[in-house]
Amino acid sequence: MRVIDHFITGHAGGGAGREGDVFDPNTGAVQARVRLGTQKDLDAAVAAAQAAQPAWAATNPQRRARIMFNFKALVEAHMEELAHLLSSEHGKVIADAKGDIQRGLEVIEFCCGIPHVLKGEYTQGAGPGIDVYSMRQPLGIGAGITPFNFPAMIPLWMSGVAIASGNAFILKPSERDPSVPVRLAELMREAGLPEGILQVVHGDKEMVDAILDHPAIAAVSFVGSSDIAHYVYRRGVEAGKRVQAMGGAKNHGIVMPDADLDQVVADLAGAAFGSAGERCMALPVVVPVGEKTADALRAKLIPAIEALRVGVSTDQEAHYGPVVTAAHRGRVENWIQAGVDEGAELVIDGRGFALQGHEQGFFIGPSLFDRVTPEMQAYKEEIFGPVLQIVRAADFDEAVRLPSSHQYGNGVAIFTRNGHAAREFAARVNVGMVGINVPIPVPVAYHTFGGWKRSAFGDTNQHGMEGVRFWTKVKTVTQRWPDGSASVAEGGRTHDAFVIPTMG
Ligand code: NAD
Repeated sequence: MRVIDHFITGHAGGGAGREGDVFDPNTGAVQARVRLGTQKDLDAAVAAAQAAQPAWAATNPQRRARIMFNFKALVEAHMEELAHLLSSEHGKVIADAKGDIQRGLEVIEFCCGIPHVLKGEYTQGAGPGIDVYSMRQPLGIGAGITPFNFPAMIPLWMSGVAIASGNAFILKPSERDPSVPVRLAELMREAGLPEGILQVVHGDKEMVDAILDHPAIAAVSFVGSSDIAHYVYRRGVEAGKRVQAMGGAKNHGIVMPDADLDQVVADLAGAAFGSAGERCMALPVVVPVGEKTADALRAKLIPAIEALRVGVSTDQEAHYGPVVTAAHRGRVENWIQAGVDEGAELVIDGRGFALQGHEQGFFIGPSLFDRVTPEMQAYKEEIFGPVLQIVRAADFDEAVRLPSSHQYGNGVAIFTRNGHAAREFAARVNVGMVGINVPIPVPVAYHTFGGWKRSAFGDTNQHGMEGVRFWTKVKTVTQRWPDGSASVAEGGRTHDAFVIPTMG
């Protein structure tokens, strides 16, 4: 059986040790094994990173940017291969797999402009003969720990900005779908990245703990579920590292009485059920304002949800594919049962769904709940599956209060034709990313991604300038040059001082 190895400079591969199963969610079969690394593997990666990083940091940013350009072209040339590989381990349909890669590439495009964003600030004449300037310098070695649900985009969020800023980066991807991160690292190497600057170590908690405790790793970026994000944040900070840790989500979509309901239903089909609901920016809660809106929305949602096609991830007509593992399907089904037990009305039940010819695949049909209330545990917790919950709100104030007081605060959307209501909502809601008639408000790469409350620990977001701030530290220089040193003005060597160095 295929064994997915680490991507560590100087690592021969092979050898004994723990391994994990990598499933094909379409068939339920184990399709590969992944190595679960140890402290020894991490030490090898850190040693290679330490050897390579100083020269990389000293490489001018324009050269670093050129490698990003090369990498972007290579990923585009390998899009089909990468999308199929991603889909075969994750289970998302090919179009979603391409979207996953494309959104990551947009961060690489941002990184192509790294010379511009790394420019520091300058004040001439801050005092008599005194100038002050600042520069952004890399941290050294950074690490990223990523979830299964975006195996291309999230590793690229982190690694792109970290590397372009002059750091060496060690990625610990999800052990559920580890192949694409390794392929991306290989392509980065092919693009011209020196050895040791981007490495991939596989593993589970043992490897995560080794990363968090390693004294040579200066910063850790994490994305995953909230309890683990919180753990990573605390342990990493305790070890003196810079840590950003993004967690789970339960995003609400507010539907005002004046919203275009046909458009809302079309948006919800994608936002609640696309990628089998395994998105941190999915919209699993819809909040119609007023009973009339709720009844009308429910009436339109039922046939739309019943028409969704669940299929294998290579089925071009399929709306969504299987979830990632049998264990995850069991978890989603348990939450559906919890909702029933707590008294919510299960309008459409997706449990027990079997796809003909793929009975062992990890499929689950779409589910719809109505009359879900804020006290229910099934409302409070993230389900991360193809389940939509209707929570009816009496008025606008209640609709603002629901997402604002929820434990998670990743994303939220409002659907309305009323500009004033939308503006009010965006200003008041206690959530990090807001969509106005945009169901999945993932910010573009040159803005920044991050939630609030239990959706993110630490104070810096992913990508955009926030990402650059996370992966660099600022040094501020205050300088004064005594008059006597102005030998340049006295002739002799004047021209040497003004020779423009070759930047290429
Ligand atoms: P997860 O928390 O199970 O795993 C994330 C990472 O943590 C993986 O690399 C995994 O190996 C590691 N890990 C797992 N258990 C660990 C433990 N006990 N100790 C230390 N490390 C451990 O998350 P997942 O199931 O892979 O991904 C889904 C979750 O990620 C959802 O909660 C989703 O909302 C969240 N997510 C959040 C964002 C965001 O930006 N806020 C984006 C994508 C996904």
